[in-house]
Amino acid sequence: MVKQIIFITILLITLGIFTYTVKRIYNFFRLTKPFPVSEWGKRINITLKVAIGQTKIFRLPVIGFIHALVFWGFMVITLGSIEMVIDGIAGIERSMSATGWFYDFVMASGDIMAYVIMVAIIIFLIRRLFMTIRRFYGIEMQPKSKIDALIALSIIFLLMVSLAGINLTYVQGHPVDYEGLFPVSAALAPLLFGESQNMLFLHELSWWTHILLIFAFANILPYSKHFHVFTSIPNVFLSRLEPLGHLPNMENVTREVKLMLDPETAFAPAPEGEVIPSRFGVKDVEDVTWKNYLDSLACTECGRCTAVCPANITGKKLSPRKIFVDLRARMKEKGPGLLKNKSFDDSKSLIGDYISTEELWACTTCNACAQECPININHPTLILDMRRYLVMEESAAPASLNTMFTNIENNGAPWQFSPEDRMKWTESL
Ligand code: SF4
Ligand code: SF4
Repeated sequence: MVKQIIFITILLITLGIFTYTVKRIYNFFRLTKPFPVSEWGKRINITLKVAIGQTKIFRLPVIGFIHALVFWGFMVITLGSIEMVIDGIAGIERSMSATGWFYDFVMASGDIMAYVIMVAIIIFLIRRLFMTIRRFYGIEMQPKSKIDALIALSIIFLLMVSLAGINLTYVQGHPVDYEGLFPVSAALAPLLFGESQNMLFLHELSWWTHILLIFAFANILPYSKHFHVFTSIPNVFLSRLEPLGHLPNMENVTREVKLMLDPETAFAPAPEGEVIPSRFGVKDVEDVTWKNYLDSLACTECGRCTAVCPANITGKKLSPRKIFVDLRARMKEKGPGLLKNKSFDDSKSLIGDYISTEELWACTTCNACAQECPININHPTLILDMRRYLVMEESAAPASLNTMFTNIENNGAPWQFSPEDRMKWTESL
């Protein structure tokens, strides 16, 4: 009974802090622009393939496979964690064991994966601490990112050690009548503990360490780059479904152009529900869509996008990862002010103070970054929207583009020749 009361109290505190954090992030979403979502069937397919199947991560086969093992391992281990919460509330043990073979399957795969993840985390830690992996570096990778990663990896390692501790002490304490299957722990337990069956203290210690680490981790994650543990699956579900090269038009601008081309329709009523934009393109966080902001929260900072970006590879300032790291940081800076006062202005903006025009104009819109991103973040559309702001509101395009714009306006083509001269090349034929 005492254990139950302590458990329920800690659970309520954990849920309270988590709810506060989720509400704070939800309020930031409310500051952003709409992003229509449809085609649910396609989205389920893409989630099964890219998120659950982890298909994009295998482009780096070895480290991708290890990462996928950690992901799949966490999925089965989470089922065991749910059982622990039910046990803790109800004051019972192994509450899900009545599910028979399913329970055996979940426990056995969770037991195997606990040891697999331990090994995987050691590999990840060695890579981060002792190897120079180029994609882990960059102007946007502040020391905090590295510390974040190390803290998260250490917590995951301890989670797996304590889970193994629970399994080892459980099978050793109940040698003939334990529920579920624990293939690795059942083999290791006699080697570690010999004949001893008095496992009560070690079992309780492992159980409480594991559950308290889960509670702490759930509340640390939203403040670290490892928030992707929660956000990456929804982010894949909400992927952009158009082909990668497709650059979306701005609907009201397209309509204006069509009206210019067909004066007959100049006085046609605006389509129902059309909203006149208060700003063309994206200047700051309140101009992005909620999906752009979700992208920034889901970004794992893995650097796969930057590693394939031709602009970055050829020494330009652009790093596609930085675009989303900056968006997240800017929302954290400006969001609280905007929530208090909708017209809050700190005389800064995403463009200029975080992302320079040099970075934005370095993008070739090749889409290599979006192709490579394991969680389907789409960088070029946001970069394009920021360029739209520069061109349409600031008239701040590079000089070479301004010449092209003038030519299109005057000649209907990007070249400096009058349309009447177009066929001149045929005269000498
Ligand atoms: S689309 Fe732009 S940011 Fe992405 S890889 Fe190509 S050049 Fe780099
Ligand atoms: S945008 Fe995608 S590929 Fe780039 S760092 Fe973030 S998760 Fe990795």
